[in-house]
Amino acid sequence: MNARHARYPFFAAAREAVGQSGVALSELVTTDDPAVSRALERVERALMAGTVESETPGEWSTRDELLSYPVARILVSLIDAPAAVRKYAQAEAATAYDRFTEDFESTDDGLKSTDTVTVELDDFLTEFELTDQVRPEADAQATAQTRKDDAYRVALGTYLTLSEPGWGERWRLVNREVADGEVRIIREELYELLREAVRRQVAEGLPFVVGDDAIAEALDAEVDSLRGLLADRKPVGRIDTVVPELFPPCMKHLLERVGRGAELDHHSRFALTAFLTGIGMDTDEIVAVYRDSALDEEEIRYQTEYLRDEAGTQYAPPSCATMAAYGDCVNKDERCETITHPLAYYARALDDEGERGTNAAD
Ligand code: SF4
Repeated sequence: MNARHARYPFFAAAREAVGQSGVALSELVTTDDPAVSRALERVERALMAGTVESETPGEWSTRDELLSYPVARILVSLIDAPAAVRKYAQAEAATAYDRFTEDFESTDDGLKSTDTVTVELDDFLTEFELTDQVRPEADAQATAQTRKDDAYRVALGTYLTLSEPGWGERWRLVNREVADGEVRIIREELYELLREAVRRQVAEGLPFVVGDDAIAEALDAEVDSLRGLLADRKPVGRIDTVVPELFPPCMKHLLERVGRGAELDHHSRFALTAFLTGIGMDTDEIVAVYRDSALDEEEIRYQTEYLRDEAGTQYAPPSCATMAAYGDCVNKDERCETITHPLAYYARALDDEGERGTNAAD
């Protein structure tokens, strides 16, 4: 097992390394192995933040990181919900995309990489059997230094297989230069096709039947908690009215912490961002809320977009029960006794204000 296997656990070499390690997954999950904790975090982060990157990378060894991948696949299979598979595969692909773009840029300086951590574009093309399907245009080949708009030619069949109709006009063949059975794309677009290749590879075979009852039993608690996260992601209607003084106490508390520059853990951040998204705030407004915090703007933007599907549907923040389980239900008041969801609290508070004859939008 090496760091590259841990960085790209879906590669055939990484799967072989797991096989050769002699580690029995059935034994792993019945002990308190850190790989299981990391696997739980991996799927939690996939469902809630669209990435599988750890929030505490220093906590895990290369072994934990690599073994967490097959355990995460078992967890996703046991959740047994199409949304879990979809979100998980997307998150693995998004994380791989961040990693390989970083690797490609760091190894494309004209020098061959000699370390065992990073990969080069050729490694990816070989892994996905695309070596004969993708070639750089002469100009790109001649330059050692790469640019995002370097051009490549992709075999038409591969282009059609890996690109999705929903990706937009730019990807439609009528808007492409096609010649001799090849489609012209730029380097940035090649990376998008590779991300899709990873997503498909991760999704392949998921969910599978976990035949070993002992494994399913040992992961019962983890699977329950992950199902709880999914259950909280029911579409809700937009409220479209922002009156911070009527926010539920839990959200006021989180906002107050953000205002002080305190660091929120990912559960709290997800809850607050989903709440603000759910009441109709747009991405820029939410980024402004986090301005004083130490959080990365790009991550906030990504999470906000992730909370909206393509039809503009909002996903609910965690229910009161989940908030309580994570210690985020604080300063409960009388209205809290009448609701089970922070958004319901807010909707009721707005209604009450209306009944008292005030304009809630003021
Ligand atoms: S009961 Fe619900 S709305 Fe009230 S503070 Fe707790 S989590 Fe928030």
